[in-house]
Amino acid sequence: MIIVMKANATQDQVDHVVQRVESLGLKTMVSRGVERTIIGVIGDESLLLGQPIEACPGVEKVMPVMAPYKLVSREFKPESTVIRVKDVEIGGDKIVLMAGPCSIEGLDRLRDIARAVKSAGAVILRGGAFKPRTSPYSFQGLGEEGLKYMRQVADELGLVTISEVMEPRQVELVSRYVDILQIGARNMQNFNLLKEVGQVKKPVMLKRGLCATIKEWLMSAEYILKEGNFEVILCERGIRTFEQHTRNTLDINAIPAVKLLSHLPVIVDPSHGTGKRELIKAVSMAGVAAGADGLMIEVHTCPEEALSDGAQSLTPEMFQELVRDVRKVAQAVGRDL
Ligand code: PEP
Ligand code: MN
Repeated sequence: MIIVMKANATQDQVDHVVQRVESLGLKTMVSRGVERTIIGVIGDESLLLGQPIEACPGVEKVMPVMAPYKLVSREFKPESTVIRVKDVEIGGDKIVLMAGPCSIEGLDRLRDIARAVKSAGAVILRGGAFKPRTSPYSFQGLGEEGLKYMRQVADELGLVTISEVMEPRQVELVSRYVDILQIGARNMQNFNLLKEVGQVKKPVMLKRGLCATIKEWLMSAEYILKEGNFEVILCERGIRTFEQHTRNTLDINAIPAVKLLSHLPVIVDPSHGTGKRELIKAVSMAGVAAGADGLMIEVHTCPEEALSDGAQSLTPEMFQELVRDVRKVAQAVGRDL
């Protein structure tokens, strides 16, 4: 349910409605638009039955939210969500660059990669410690040891961190070390995991599932918001199609579509989206042109030695070149980088 205030409603009138709604045991989210203020109601809406909220001064109308992903929808919150992590803003004017190795492989290697991506303009260090690998014989990640390296390097260099959490039992451990929790594509519909990260006071980046529709992806985000965590970032990382030339097919359509349907920030991952390093710069530029709020890119100082995803890892030089060219696109679409 949303409560639309009249264009000339005063702050006192907004505060009064918020108090009325919250006194019924519901929560509110106030969206102040240029034209009018909208109050989103969170919780058991049946508690509003029989309450003449329309009669409160300044209220124009009370409306149900039609989208099935209610809290995630722009109907519920017309203003874009900006997530602040330390001094980084995700979803603001500035394009955010997340970069680093596919997997954390060791302290010195991570530090070298982190230095390189930072000097090129990345503000968030990525790297997996718990890796969802297709083969059980492939490198599975360094686990907690890797998370310790990531924290150490990020603190030395002043970077924000993001790393994947694969199951509910790991949420507490991963949260101790990283700033943003990543839910991988394979776990997009792991509903117990979504509920668990919904209860954590840390931003969550939810990657789109390999075969997920946009609606299914937004419904998964709804699980996290419903638990009380509104700091969700969506990540388009390519979907499975009939095409075999690329690892996945990055769905450019999804970027403007999701920006229209939802208030949440959108990141594009062209590394997993293409699987080929020679395609990553062009697809990054396309993603930013289409309205993405940031990019997640795999970078390695020696891709041929990478323990995972070497073929799609950029060298630091290639990453620098990518940032230079994406900056031009960002400026062309009125964003900073
Ligand atoms: C990753 O980013 O490390 C990863 C495993 O990606 P995805 O879940 O998109 O495959
Ligand atoms: Mn990877």
